[in-house]
Amino acid sequence: MTSIGIKLSKLLENGIEFSCQKCGDCCRGFKEGEVYLYKDDIARLTKLLNLTSKASLRKFAKEYLKVVNDSFFWKEPGAARAKMYRYKTLGFKFAGDDEHCHFLKDNKCSIHEARPFQCRCFPFWQMLVSSKKNFVDYSKKCPGLKVLKGKHYTREEILDWATKEYEMEKDFFFEMKKNDFNILKVYSFLPKEMVS
Ligand code: SF4
Ligand code: SF4
Repeated sequence: MTSIGIKLSKLLENGIEFSCQKCGDCCRGFKEGEVYLYKDDIARLTKLLNLTSKASLRKFAKEYLKVVNDSFFWKEPGAARAKMYRYKTLGFKFAGDDEHCHFLKDNKCSIHEARPFQCRCFPFWQMLVSSKKNFVDYSKKCPGLKVLKGKHYTREEILDWATKEYEMEKDFFFEMKKNDFNILKVYSFLPKEMVS
């Protein structure tokens, strides 16, 4: 357990070898998943794509983004127990019958240097590193997880990625909480009609 309570699956206790096989399969087939975007992700993307005006941001949001459900388990100081908070966040829209990310071009990420944190920290997502079942299930989709060869990642590096993911989600949760869980207050460029 880390100080924030991320429990590492026994599979990863001694670290693992992992290298992306560049098949692009984690960037398509999103029937049951999302590519979540948090504030730093939006900032990096808007810089890369040179979206400097509110109008260009609104246009980008309508074309490429959607408002999706998110949740965070949190115990208020002094509260008897933690509770699940549910709220909205941003994610990418998908395209085509195979539900691929709009930014997947020829099996490569066309926004690689500004890709969302969720993409950068794969496969060290909390939900994968803390559950053998989830890890084994996802290895059916990702050949890199099946062959487990290449760069060695230590236990500490894996926990570091998963912790950063947790901290980023926590920061967004606090920002939403501060703004009455109103995503339009957090992202003022979002067209109202995108929020149901
Ligand atoms: S599914 Fe795995 S091997 Fe394929 S592109 Fe994604 S990370 Fe790389
Ligand atoms: S942003 Fe890039 S890495 Fe992330 S899902 Fe889209 S194409 Fe894949």
